[in-house]
Amino acid sequence: MTQHTISKSQYVKGLQCPKALWFYRHRKDLAPEIDAETQARFDTGNEIGELAMHYFDGGVEVTNEYWDVKGAVEATHKFIKDGCDIIYEATAMHPVDGGYSRIDILKRVEGSDEWDLIEVKSSTSVKDYHLDDMAFQYHVFYNAGYKIRKCLMMVIDNSYVRDGDIDPQALFRLEDISGEVFARQGEVEAVAGQLGYVLEQKKEPEISIGARCFPPPFECDYRAHCWKHVPDYSVYNVFQKPKAEDISRKHGVALEKLPDGIRPGGVKALDIESYSYSN
Ligand code: SF4
Repeated sequence: MTQHTISKSQYVKGLQCPKALWFYRHRKDLAPEIDAETQARFDTGNEIGELAMHYFDGGVEVTNEYWDVKGAVEATHKFIKDGCDIIYEATAMHPVDGGYSRIDILKRVEGSDEWDLIEVKSSTSVKDYHLDDMAFQYHVFYNAGYKIRKCLMMVIDNSYVRDGDIDPQALFRLEDISGEVFARQGEVEAVAGQLGYVLEQKKEPEISIGARCFPPPFECDYRAHCWKHVPDYSVYNVFQKPKAEDISRKHGVALEKLPDGIRPGGVKALDIESYSYSN
């Protein structure tokens, strides 16, 4: 097993930018402070997680601390041995690449030795990065020996209208994303190995800034560090992100240094001029 184990959120971070993952693991000093907005997001996520447990009532929860992965894996095995059919926060570890996953809900398919993986999100639709998140979780559980029937995403049903206490059965809807998850397994296999290699390096990976720095739904945590050489008003404020990345690779990020023909005209030119005058 590699020394550098990665979780699902670290996998998604590394998939978007290996340098962001390297910073996360090796440069704690660069980590942004948790602001009120981020904390509120965590709190909402926790509340949604609690409600989701009521959707699938009668389960048992793995309560080991987040750092105690080995203990959480053992607790999950014990619950299964004891015949539990619904396990919240069930945890598995990949036997080779050391990736680990703590799935929101692991649910036995009735009367069989197969399981469904269910991940809860506080959004109303399945996003692309949710598919990457679940693809990594499937990769871990499957390689840890679990027979997985389906991968389901549990999202908020936006047609739900609250009347009195929240009704978890009406609040959530389940979306079967198994096809997308299975289709991504080749990529997960390759990327998980590469990220393990990146984390073993003493030096941060050489990766340029670009469109990747704005991964949905939030921009990268390390913008302040990687972008300190970029003016407040740059090609990234004027062009679409992929185009800005292409232009900055060829001509740099400073608008005033762009050659004729690249420098925008019309309203954008006026914006650039007024910004130059005000600074
Ligand atoms: S700011 Fe951009 S280059 Fe720097 S770590 Fe984040 S995504 Fe990677």
